[in-house]
Amino acid sequence: MELHNLTVSELSKLLAKGEVSSVEVTTAIIDRIEAVENRVQAYVTRTAEKALEQAKAIDEARAKGEELGPLAGVPMALKDNICTEGIRTTCSSRILADWVPPYDATVVRNLKDAGSVMLGKLNMDEFAMGSSNENSSFFPTHNPWDYDRVPGGSSGGAVAAVAAGEAFYSLGSDTGGSIRQPASFCGVVGMKPTYGRVSRYGLIAFASSLDQIGPITKDVTDCALVQKAIAGHDAHDSTSADLPVPDYQEALKAEIKGLKIGIPKEYFAEGMEPEVEESVRKAIAKFEELGAICEETSLPHTEYALPAYYLVATAEASSNLARYDGVSYGLRVPGKDIVEMYMNTRSEGFGPEVKRRIMLGTYALSSGYYDAYYLKALKVRTLIRKDFDEAFKRYDVLATPTSPTVAFKLGEKAGDPLAMYLSDLCTIPINMAGLPAISLPCGFSQGLPIGLQLIGKPFDETTLLQAAYAFEQNTDYHRQRPDLGVA
Ligand code: GLN
Repeated sequence: MELHNLTVSELSKLLAKGEVSSVEVTTAIIDRIEAVENRVQAYVTRTAEKALEQAKAIDEARAKGEELGPLAGVPMALKDNICTEGIRTTCSSRILADWVPPYDATVVRNLKDAGSVMLGKLNMDEFAMGSSNENSSFFPTHNPWDYDRVPGGSSGGAVAAVAAGEAFYSLGSDTGGSIRQPASFCGVVGMKPTYGRVSRYGLIAFASSLDQIGPITKDVTDCALVQKAIAGHDAHDSTSADLPVPDYQEALKAEIKGLKIGIPKEYFAEGMEPEVEESVRKAIAKFEELGAICEETSLPHTEYALPAYYLVATAEASSNLARYDGVSYGLRVPGKDIVEMYMNTRSEGFGPEVKRRIMLGTYALSSGYYDAYYLKALKVRTLIRKDFDEAFKRYDVLATPTSPTVAFKLGEKAGDPLAMYLSDLCTIPINMAGLPAISLPCGFSQGLPIGLQLIGKPFDETTLLQAAYAFEQNTDYHRQRPDLGVA
């Protein structure tokens, strides 16, 4: 049995029965990381020693008969924009390359309370801006299914680590698709919960009205387990919702007879790879076979989501990133006076995509342009939300492709920001509306995974998980693992 191929739920049973210890499994995953990391390059920072200490503590607690939850002793890792006390948190940016947070994000506290073992921090596009991981200022992560291809982004390291067996699960962040698009590229499950469901305290902000933390796992059962551990109200995040968290695990019932699924026609846009469309249509047929009622529907403002997103997200980013001034955080590059110091620090500290976004956002917010761009984008955002409100009067869930294509080649879109932005066509509208959505494997094209996206009503992650689980129980795409060419 190869430990690194197990899911969280499988591993947690073995741990509970004492068939394997947390130290054993942590050691096995550290070895796995050693074996594949020179090719995959998912980790920015590794914390093997600390992980082994945590694993030992859990084994001792278990030996004493303490009651432990399903994540106890399970090795995982975090996208490097989630603050970890005493462990550097870089956002894959030169400006934060040596920054060590003095506190843990709420989700990190939650996972520590659940007894998790943390293996390290995972690579990403700088400040979560990108769709391929090529915007990391350190190095690009490679897709475990084909090393010449991107893992997607911006949570590329977080999905590659799970797909390659270098962590049993990870947490990513999703502002416009950054959990779901890479999950689809690497054949794993990724969920963006409803805006407000998971605390953002300690998540380094990109676009605060869109950002949300979520789980990246090998299957839907694990997704439910991790989601349960991180969801809930947090007094440190005023946008977190004060609502009870359902027992997502309980909600996993294979029965979806009568579930109403809408298929928005705008998501099957021009430029979509035919194999992607074919797999998604086959998935829809599978849902029908399982008793769901599937119907074509329309979300008429879909085409405006991408341009509106690039105004809202850049506007918020330009404001959020103003704090990196060489005084309060991270890198400082001296200059003859304070203005020159600011300029030197930000010129050297930020990469080209981050600079592009700051300039776009500053422009959209500047006087004389605010009404024409930013305000208009906010109005479009309302129209997009209303499209979904209408659709959810008739449907429980909407089904679409996660991304119009499978993973593309490293370098293929790196020089063309617009082509890169189009990669998030199917995921961005969901952030604009603040809804929950999950991506799960639904097929392969040229040996590369394809993702199905299910979109739910606000705070109804339960129905999403239920539908995703039913699909998973009747297919075996989620059981496929990439061949990494190592023993
Ligand atoms: N790829 C999108 C962007 O570059 C979304 C990123 C994200 O979700 N963080 O903005």
